Amino acid sequence: APAETPQIVIDAHGLPYLDPKLPVKKRVADLVSRMSLEEKAGQMTQAERGAIGAGGDIASYDLGSLLSGGGSTPTPNTPAAWAKMIDGYQLRAQATRFQIPLIYGVDAVHGHNNLTGATIMPHNIGIGATRDPGLAEKAGAVTAAEVRATGIPWDFAPCLCVTRDERWGRSYESFGEDPALVKSMETVIQGLQGARDGKDLKDDDKVLATAKHFVGDGGTEYGSSTTGSYTIDQGVTKVTRQQLEAVHLAPYQTAVDRGIGSVMPSYSSLDILGDGQGPVKMHARADMINGVLKGRMGFDGFVISDWNAIDQLPGDYASHVRTSVNAGVDMMMVPYSYKDFRTTLIDETTAGRVSAKRIDDAVSRILTQKFKLGLFEKPYADTSGAAQIGSAGHRAVAREAAAKSQVLLKNAAGVLPLKKSQKVYVAGSNADDLGNQTGGWTITWQGASGKHTDGTTILQGMRNAGGDVTYSKDASAPTSGYDVGVVVVGETPYAEGVGDVGNGNDLALTPADQAAVDKVCAAMKCAVLIVSGRPQLIGDRLGQIDALVASWLPGTEGDGVADVLYGKRAFTGQLPVTWPKSETQLPINVGDTSYDPQFPYGWGLTTQTKVPGGGEATLKALTLAARAADRTGSTQLGRAAVTKARLLVQQSAGSTITPALAKPFAEADHLLLTAHYTQALTKLLEAYRAR
Ligand code: BGC
Repeated sequence: APAETPQIVIDAHGLPYLDPKLPVKKRVADLVSRMSLEEKAGQMTQAERGAIGAGGDIASYDLGSLLSGGGSTPTPNTPAAWAKMIDGYQLRAQATRFQIPLIYGVDAVHGHNNLTGATIMPHNIGIGATRDPGLAEKAGAVTAAEVRATGIPWDFAPCLCVTRDERWGRSYESFGEDPALVKSMETVIQGLQGARDGKDLKDDDKVLATAKHFVGDGGTEYGSSTTGSYTIDQGVTKVTRQQLEAVHLAPYQTAVDRGIGSVMPSYSSLDILGDGQGPVKMHARADMINGVLKGRMGFDGFVISDWNAIDQLPGDYASHVRTSVNAGVDMMMVPYSYKDFRTTLIDETTAGRVSAKRIDDAVSRILTQKFKLGLFEKPYADTSGAAQIGSAGHRAVAREAAAKSQVLLKNAAGVLPLKKSQKVYVAGSNADDLGNQTGGWTITWQGASGKHTDGTTILQGMRNAGGDVTYSKDASAPTSGYDVGVVVVGETPYAEGVGDVGNGNDLALTPADQAAVDKVCAAMKCAVLIVSGRPQLIGDRLGQIDALVASWLPGTEGDGVADVLYGKRAFTGQLPVTWPKSETQLPINVGDTSYDPQFPYGWGLTTQTKVPGGGEATLKALTLAARAADRTGSTQLGRAAVTKARLLVQQSAGSTITPALAKPFAEADHLLLTAHYTQALTKLLEAYRAR
């Protein structure tokens, strides 16, 4: 702990709410009953730490919360500096009448990604590719431990977006295009928060989680406005009520059932077809926030707005404030306009346009989580877990996640795994770039190319694995003297918006990447790895590539990628999104009526030796096993049967994937996730016959 850390707060009042032995509900009621409207409005206000200078405004405006937006880091960017900075703010909060601690929040969306030296996990799209809920939970636990050890009790994650069109620049924040897949990965909430009832939240290795962005953020329509800007981020989600429920809302019920502590509404608008309302911004949707989330679903945590989101509502500022608060937003992320927000909220309440009851409800929800987090007893950072930040144990989890997220799309002539005896020529823009392989939301909001934190690149991982490797980034003078070439290409970092699409690259590989692939693959057998937040278009080039891997954004542990390249682990990842042939196919998703992708949702070859043969006879035997699994409710048996059948179908199909094969194949994975094993087998048999 830093030397300046102030000591535990002394109970100066002896008031009931300070008594940790009383139930949280009583403590909340007692405290709320004593607070003024000004103090209540302050609790509902969240400011950016960079906006409040030395922190005097915390007491002057009774601020309830602070955040570090992406990249709003202390100098130096060390665990001790974070803890010291936040303790300094808490000290200010202790100078208020009721000594209500601040709740400090950050976006730790793939590890404690604002902190130099932290363990960086693959982005969610890679976690979705692992199909491993236990691993998602472990990754969440590592994140929570590293975040809390720097004095931060609150994380604006996980994103439960169901990405439906990968031209969206936040697609990598999604676990995938299938709501069943997103739901299965919500074990991450237990990793972050611990037990469903919130009793672990006060531990020094747990944080309050935030399900975001409610609801439909992944379903916005692609289009460019007359001003040339793209509308897919923060745009309009047009859906039928049935699609809204099945695709976008379903993951939120799971989050509520898992005890999620906070929810963030989406910047986007929701247009429910046929309801006559047209598009309405989510921060104004009382029917969704009050009605569905807090009402029907029974969410009892608090709702935090997105960054400046209320400014996007129609009307004047007073109407922004009352509309969003009345819709059910409990705390407002008003990074720089916190004074205006608080004053306006006080005025609107005094005028009766926001009810005192609504204010008390919002404040009670916020205080409940502060009590559960143990902040009243321990407002200052407990840095006892700081030694674990970036530790070997934590990196081992990230390495496992990186390895399991790798999706082997094609493997002609068994090019992968590589052998240590082989002479390997490594090339490409993303082979040796830690910044590119960690992507956006890493150290800075947008992320950056180059070495900005600790970790191993894919190239370093291959060397660590004992590979005989020669490297040339731009693939200068590749000769056929090598046994095999590994070309690592893909995207450079971005966050929000549309990413590379805005630079005119669309989802195509850059000309430099194309040249590197062409040069190496013309000269020798080659494997191509695509390090990116979403599928990149390969098109006809697929014919000249022997092995193709979707690497996603694997994080700081390039060693994990090397593990599968050199066969220390088998490739087991599966596509979390459909891999399109061309841009014109977008949006393309499992369940579409016509479906002709390059690789279907769920695709993923394995380098495991035990891929079953035997064709139809084996598939029929597996159908019997699936039927037994459905009858007895044995998920283990069902999963094993479907997995074997999937591998068999892929193996026999090679890389000739017709629409007749792709459609049932993709649907089988959805059926597996929803535990319909017999139906999944029926689909796989259909896919097999169509190959
Ligand atoms: C993003 C949120 C994020 C917030 C705070 C916004 O721009 O949409 O996902 O939590 O910033 O950094």
